[in-house]
Amino acid sequence: MPDVPDVTLEGLYGQMVLDHCRNPRNNVPLDAPDVEAEEFNPFCGDRVIYQLKLDQWGRVSGASARSEGCSIIRASASMMAELSTGRTLPELQGLSDSVRGMMQGRGIGDRPAADLGDLNALQAVRQYPVRIKCALLPWTALEVGVEMFLARQG
Ligand code: ZN
Repeated sequence: MPDVPDVTLEGLYGQMVLDHCRNPRNNVPLDAPDVEAEEFNPFCGDRVIYQLKLDQWGRVSGASARSEGCSIIRASASMMAELSTGRTLPELQGLSDSVRGMMQGRGIGDRPAADLGDLNALQAVRQYPVRIKCALLPWTALEVGVEMFLARQG
């Protein structure tokens, strides 16, 4: 396992990332989730398990993200879980596109930045290109989980 130092983010963004690491939101496992996916990055040992419960209208009624690894994946997973509740799966796919666009420097489209909430703090990670993967791993789990669910629906 290569020894990768954790990043240091300063200022407000750094505090927000640290706060999510120390107090992860929505990290309690769900019973009988409708959507579930796990992703692993052997490079830094990051791992995330993402779960969703849907209500009868297809809206997320419960979200859980359990993660381990560096501060960036833990913050990103916590922010993602917090923003998942109340959205439909297509809305989550759109949100994921925006986060990917933000991290890869393509922009977030028509979406107001405020819609990304605390995730805006992850922009600071772009100065550490190797960490962009860490920030995006939870979103890969979201995309895989949603695709598997939609494929099952036919
Ligand atoms: Zn990482």
